Amino acid sequence: MMHISIYLNILIASAELTLSVPTPEQKSTSDSPPLLLVSFDGFRADYLKKYSFPNLEKFFADGVLVHELTNVFTTKTFPNHYSLVTGLYAESHGMVASIMYDSASKKHFSIQNDSDPFWWNEATPIWVSVEESGFKAASAMWPGTDVKIQNHPLNYTFDYNYRVTFQERLGNLTQWMIADKTVKFASLYWEEPDRSGHLYGPENSTAMSHVLKEVDNYIGFLVKHLFDVGLWEKINVIITSDHGMAQCSKERLIKLDECINSSSYTLVDMSPLTAIVPLENISEVYKNLSSCNSHMKVYLKGNLPDRLHYKHNDRIQPVLLLADEGWTIVKNGTLPRLGDHGYDNTLPSMHPFLAAHGPAFRKDYKMSSFNSVDLYPLMCHLLGIPPKPNNGSFAHVRCVLVNEQCGELALAVGVVLGVLILLTTFSCLFWLMKNRNVSSPRPFARLQLDDDADDEPLLE
Ligand SMILES: [Zn+2]
Repeated sequence: MMHISIYLNILIASAELTLSVPTPEQKSTSDSPPLLLVSFDGFRADYLKKYSFPNLEKFFADGVLVHELTNVFTTKTFPNHYSLVTGLYAESHGMVASIMYDSASKKHFSIQNDSDPFWWNEATPIWVSVEESGFKAASAMWPGTDVKIQNHPLNYTFDYNYRVTFQERLGNLTQWMIADKTVKFASLYWEEPDRSGHLYGPENSTAMSHVLKEVDNYIGFLVKHLFDVGLWEKINVIITSDHGMAQCSKERLIKLDECINSSSYTLVDMSPLTAIVPLENISEVYKNLSSCNSHMKVYLKGNLPDRLHYKHNDRIQPVLLLADEGWTIVKNGTLPRLGDHGYDNTLPSMHPFLAAHGPAFRKDYKMSSFNSVDLYPLMCHLLGIPPKPNNGSFAHVRCVLVNEQCGELALAVGVVLGVLILLTTFSCLFWLMKNRNVSSPRPFARLQLDDDADDEPLLE
């Protein structure tokens, strides 16, 4: 059996050699191409199936498409934009909602009042890490980039102003990237299709097809502009979003005034995740709300399901009401919006998509999904900067990169095992034939007919 085991050892050694092909060294920041991260707010993943996107399709045909991202709870704009750039769940980065109240400092936060670093300082966004690594970051309206987070203002940014056109936002970014080669990370935020999704509802196909065509034209403009200024194929580009959008209806209203006295609580944030501070008897408030409507789940802060990662932060209020998909919680009155988001992050209607293109990415590569917190370690890898502690996983996303062994690895394992089995079979046959010729003129007859001690030498 000696030569068989030698064969096996050689084969196993070669298999190990094939399987342990190291992934290429992570590049240092100076070698890495710049990265442009673009978010179209409220771009629900399945818009891609229902509407036509000729420019976006061209973009990912030559790159990567991830059909759905599982985003973080609550599926609102600020929590999710901060998760994309920190890799953290909302309870960990502290941007737990788009409207917040901190009871210790008595501070209030809203989209119109978002510039106090206090709200952002619990996490380090990637643009701060890029600048800490000695490079520059630029931004056009990405939430938080006009705030002095961790005492770190960005030079290449401008104050939020929704009137600044998409073309101006992009034009400024590319100008900065071309003029200053140390700009390694740029982020761009655009308000649509979120605004139209709220206004008309995602099921209004006439209105949505109009705005989604506009969004697709911006993507066409982006590609052409990058080509014209010589950045196309030179930089990595990621296009994604923060959340999706659900259709609401006046038939699906939950009126709190019908269940509870409005003087017994303070309302911090409204539908679909309603944050409540009971003023006197918390258990009474909880009890009244619990029996209010079967389409609204009521939680004491500590009782939210672990999978939501939404309890360990002082900015999360003592009582939380979560509406079922498409239901709207109001104090009283009428439906405020035809479309909304902020629902459970396991709902496909809340999920955005992701597409990527550039030298680091595979061509024509599709993935069904990954977690939006996984984008952060991927971006750190692309930029060659060390990631801060985060809730994401580079292993989940590395297959989108051209330099990573993924499908090839599975193929290599299959080929090596196949060759191993074949060679072992041939070796055994060869060894059996050889021994038969030496020790017995009729080995098969003896093997078939007898199993007495005379056969033993054959089996040694
Ligand atoms: Zn919105």
